[in-house]
Amino acid sequence: MKKVNLIALLLTALFLFTACSNHSNIPESPNHSKYIYRMADGSSLDWDTAMGMPIKINLVNGKTTPVCIDPLCMHDDADCPFYECFGCVADGTVIFFRRGWISRTEVGFEGSEKLCTYNAATGEVRILEDYTDSIVYAGIHDNVLYYYTAEFSSENDTWICSYQLHLADGISGKITDLPLEKEYTTEGGFTSNSDYPNILSIDDERIYWMEYSGISDAIYYQTDRMAQNKQMLAGGQTAGGIYHGGYAYSVTGISELIDPSAGRTPENMINTYALHRTSLADQTKETIAGGLTTPNFIITDRYIFTLEGLSTESKGSKKILHGCKVSRMNHDGSNLTVITETDKYDFMYGEFSGNEILIDCYEDEENTYLALAFYVTDEDGNLDISPDTLILNAATAEFTVSEYIE
Ligand SMILES: [Zn+2]
Repeated sequence: MKKVNLIALLLTALFLFTACSNHSNIPESPNHSKYIYRMADGSSLDWDTAMGMPIKINLVNGKTTPVCIDPLCMHDDADCPFYECFGCVADGTVIFFRRGWISRTEVGFEGSEKLCTYNAATGEVRILEDYTDSIVYAGIHDNVLYYYTAEFSSENDTWICSYQLHLADGISGKITDLPLEKEYTTEGGFTSNSDYPNILSIDDERIYWMEYSGISDAIYYQTDRMAQNKQMLAGGQTAGGIYHGGYAYSVTGISELIDPSAGRTPENMINTYALHRTSLADQTKETIAGGLTTPNFIITDRYIFTLEGLSTESKGSKKILHGCKVSRMNHDGSNLTVITETDKYDFMYGEFSGNEILIDCYEDEENTYLALAFYVTDEDGNLDISPDTLILNAATAEFTVSEYIE
């Protein structure tokens, strides 16, 4: 069995979410940014597929600008910092992206990939390193990128790939090689594989990892931010989800029959979600919220926010929400409070994928700002993701749509 299929299955089943990366105890430092980034068409930044112009959204005032702010730039020649940008990720004020590519030839691989940064605060572009090995994304947190370089070699007519882990500090530009306890190799010349350790989540102190041992058993562990001082996480319950304050948060789907005497038809089923947290210290698992109609949640330093539709419609494996109700609770599930609802906007998410509506947040001393992806109806009556971002001010319970400034 191919391991790559196992990880795809596992990630789907566990609803992997992105944790809110901002922290209220640090008011406004370069590492804790009120800016979030999306692609100009509303899709997420992505290391492997995204190409085009990222946009920068200020969650406090709603102003949105292309990251290339030169008004005369057509973004179509080498004067544009994003010309030939292939794939990018951001967290903080630095966007990491790559330029160039490595291609397979009959005799091996040729070409090179440059690891580049763009500082959205200063506009500065830097080439940090020019690699003849593929750059494989592992994780990002507060302007620090974790990545593997994957070196191909040929052995007995098969391609072998070996990995080296690095971190790049996007502010200083410094690259540090990180330890791996053993050499991970994958066969076939593909880097999209689960044989090397994958980063599940990064917080201010720790990195949480998953790797496979043998054919199917996943093991989980944490290290410090320099990938040292490895500690195993006992049991499998901490798999997936968001790691926050010593707990792993995850969602499970529950299917129940409306009429228990009738069959398991889609009309007779009701699907709800429960939110759990598992202590990393003693592995105790508790259910902190149940009966949720969507798996969407996001964790800030103060609260957990959930989002549900006022009415829901199924479209294949997608759910369409008309209107939404946003609630918050404490990290242990107590004090569940509805903060607002609106019937003005439509949303959509895949039943087996993660947090596609509550996409990001920024929290300062007084307030929490939530970023939501919403959908608009096009002229043919189809729902399309909006290139704008819906912002909820949690203190005033007001929604605003981001405003694009050329
Ligand atoms: Zn440009």
